[in-house]
Amino acid sequence: MDDPFRIVGKAVDARNTYGLPLAVLAELTHRCPLQCGYCSNPIQLEQASREMTTEQWCSAMTQMADLGVLQIHFSGGEPTVRKDLEQLVQHASDVGLYSNLITSGVMMTRDRMFRLADAGLSHVQVSIQGATGQMSDLIGGFKNALPKKHDTATWTLEAGLALTVNAVVHRQNLPELPQIIEKAVEWGAARLEVANVQYYGWALKNRQALMPTFAQLEDTTNIVNEARARLKGILEIDYVIPDYYAARPKQCMGGWGRQFFNISPSGHVLPCHAAETITELRFDSLKERTLEWIWHNSDAMNCFRGTDWMPEPCKSCAFKEIDFGGCRCQAYALAKDASATDPACAKSPLHEAIFRTAMAESIASEDDFIYRNFANARADS
Ligand code: SF4
Ligand code: SF4
Repeated sequence: MDDPFRIVGKAVDARNTYGLPLAVLAELTHRCPLQCGYCSNPIQLEQASREMTTEQWCSAMTQMADLGVLQIHFSGGEPTVRKDLEQLVQHASDVGLYSNLITSGVMMTRDRMFRLADAGLSHVQVSIQGATGQMSDLIGGFKNALPKKHDTATWTLEAGLALTVNAVVHRQNLPELPQIIEKAVEWGAARLEVANVQYYGWALKNRQALMPTFAQLEDTTNIVNEARARLKGILEIDYVIPDYYAARPKQCMGGWGRQFFNISPSGHVLPCHAAETITELRFDSLKERTLEWIWHNSDAMNCFRGTDWMPEPCKSCAFKEIDFGGCRCQAYALAKDASATDPACAKSPLHEAIFRTAMAESIASEDDFIYRNFANARADS
């Protein structure tokens, strides 16, 4: 077996440096007609009344372009619930940002897709929860989503836009992965993202209902590798394995506060989409500060930048400028300490325990979800 701690290639000297932010995930709203139990939104969903206005989002995009940002990903919740989406896409184009729409696809119309294309949208990512109507409805908690998603995919191509299909996979929908891959081909996608659930926020609450078995993980890897070879030149497949079964952590967000940031519906600037799960951090808002000030000066942005903050074993590890110690949100979720080594790493003292947890939960008989919705968010507070 390969040594997971063998260094391949040259490490980037990223100690305490950070560059221009290249891409921004703009979470326009937490409203969404679907209720996926693995949603990456925080448990405490933002009410519509707290969302930034059209003018505030446009100002944020102008500031992004001034700062050097190249891409904006319009996301949510479901971004198409915002009636001003066309205006926002138009403003992104006007200030020179490449724009991508990440959508469940269940609220789109053909006319709207063409209006978005006219406003300058370049790319659409449509999520898929299962390959059959039954699985799709069960996972998303929404009836008859699949035909609507297919329509959105069709209109994306008709409008001349690039299409990616996003599949978040877990124990319950993995048996349908081969058909999900075929759906992506049938819908005409150029890319399919197969991402195992990351366990924080809603997914952490539903971990017992989602955790795949080790055998499923091995099957998934084989299915993805076979499809990649068979569909070369037709469909590109990106694949993210589940952290709990990994030996080394992922390089989360390319390093905390290095190249990416996320804006929450109410305007908080976050180093990643799950950062608000670290309840001890305070995030600055675009309603009070400029983006440039926040990017350079925010305590939350600076606290895990570079490598000086790292404890052992990361501090003296040859990988520290490659993976930056893994995911801070996962460290907080599992070690109750956001500065700990990500327990996904085999060098973490907690690694064995989380591997055992994964194995135990993967064979649990618990299949019911706590659906992600405002009622369950209120029940949690
Ligand atoms: S993961 Fe599901 S519930 Fe969450 S925003 Fe996406 S479609 Fe909506
Ligand atoms: S998480 Fe820390 S200890 Fe593990 S490989 Fe990365 S830098 Fe090394």
